[in-house]
Amino acid sequence: ALTLRGLRKAFHGNVILESIDLDVTQGEVVCIIGPSGGGKSTLLRCINHLEPLDAGIVLVEDELVGYVVEDEHLVETGDRQTSRVRRRMGMVFQQFNLFPHLTALENVTIGPITVLREGRRDAEQHARTLLERVGLGQHADKYPAQLSGGQQQRVAIARALAMRPSLMLFDEPTSALDPELVGEVLQVMRSLADAGMTMLVVTHEISFAREVADTVVFMEGGVIVEKGPAAQVLTSPSSVRTASFLRSTG
Ligand code: ATP
Ligand code: MG
Repeated sequence: ALTLRGLRKAFHGNVILESIDLDVTQGEVVCIIGPSGGGKSTLLRCINHLEPLDAGIVLVEDELVGYVVEDEHLVETGDRQTSRVRRRMGMVFQQFNLFPHLTALENVTIGPITVLREGRRDAEQHARTLLERVGLGQHADKYPAQLSGGQQQRVAIARALAMRPSLMLFDEPTSALDPELVGEVLQVMRSLADAGMTMLVVTHEISFAREVADTVVFMEGGVIVEKGPAAQVLTSPSSVRTASFLRSTG
């Protein structure tokens, strides 16, 4: 579903990502863990082409993101092609970024109506199904300010799903939440995983990674230090750096 090869990214001469190779297969859940500043968010932004790469390629379902091949060279494409491929990736950030002047339902339907040109009735029907699925069927007509952080983040997940993505990218979706609201969001993510959604999740919730991930990636200093089956990486890591990070998180 997603292929990364040789990704490299530098900001002002500082290398932030180096030689990143990763495959996420259809239906696979991959969790990325690692210390602050290790490049996890930058990696997700590069996958989505919110940041241009300095080297390497990103393929979503065998299609290049952000570039086309012309005369055997990679050429950055225009916004149209990029947004068409980017649309296959649903993105959920730490901050929910809902439109404050739109209801939960309207937040979920606006993308399908304006971008996918879905009819309002179909879009609303689909949105109600999705809000039901994230446990917010009763809250469709509320505005973000009337919802808790956990509820807002679940609307954000429904909004991403409404675009019918083939994979979902999450960047620490629970780290801005009060502790008592984390569980409800993780539960929605777990049910998505159980339903077969392909997911790449940056998280500091080690127990979530242990229970839900097929593969765990440990990133530090802009490189993938270690990746493998979740149980193996989390219980008997092969790198001392992974082991010491896991000890530090308790
Ligand atoms: P955290 O766990 O705190 O979210 P992270 O692993 O997501 O950390 P990044 O946010 O990707 O780490 O940052 C990696 C490095 O890249 C940091 O040193 C950061 O300062 C730097 N960085 C990120 N974005 C930019 C930017 N736009 N310009 C310059 N430096 C940047
Ligand atoms: Mg980050």
